[in-house]
Amino acid sequence: MHCPKCKNEYLKPTKLEEGLPVMGCPKCNGALLSLLYYRDWSERVVVTSDDVVDTGEIRSDADTATALGCPKCSRLMTKYLVSGALNTRLDLCGNCDEAWLDGGEWQLLKSLELGNALPSVFTDSWQRKVRAERTELDRVERLKKRVGEEDAEQAVAVKKWLGTTQHKSTILHFLGSD
Ligand SMILES: [Zn+2]
Ligand SMILES: [Zn+2]
Repeated sequence: MHCPKCKNEYLKPTKLEEGLPVMGCPKCNGALLSLLYYRDWSERVVVTSDDVVDTGEIRSDADTATALGCPKCSRLMTKYLVSGALNTRLDLCGNCDEAWLDGGEWQLLKSLELGNALPSVFTDSWQRKVRAERTELDRVERLKKRVGEEDAEQAVAVKKWLGTTQHKSTILHFLGSD
């Protein structure tokens, strides 16, 4: 099997973690992970991470923009966003039930405490949650451009607090009546 990113590089058997075999690329450190193995492993092992990963670095360049071909069956893999705040997308071949993790993505997942969450990322409900997070973040970005960073942050804090109080409508009415 060839690396879907480096093309000419062969994937070699290696381990993502003790007891979690993958086919890895020695050049880009990407890994093809069987979700079958992963589920079994994830039931036995609680994933923790002491590493602090600089998400900013991963956000900018580690992700592949174009669709990758599955190293096993060569069908195009589907991309799944991990979180609304990051551009990191995991590739999944639904045909083979194998996920492709770019170099560093496993470490990132662990640092986000998602080391045991893998198949969930590929579900509709997870993707809906991610899209909602994105929409909200975009909204805040637009607000920042209009009113400045400081006021936008205040507004976000007020909005968050409004979400927790049972007097939301009364307070909104009060604010609007000025
Ligand atoms: Zn590679
Ligand atoms: Zn496949």
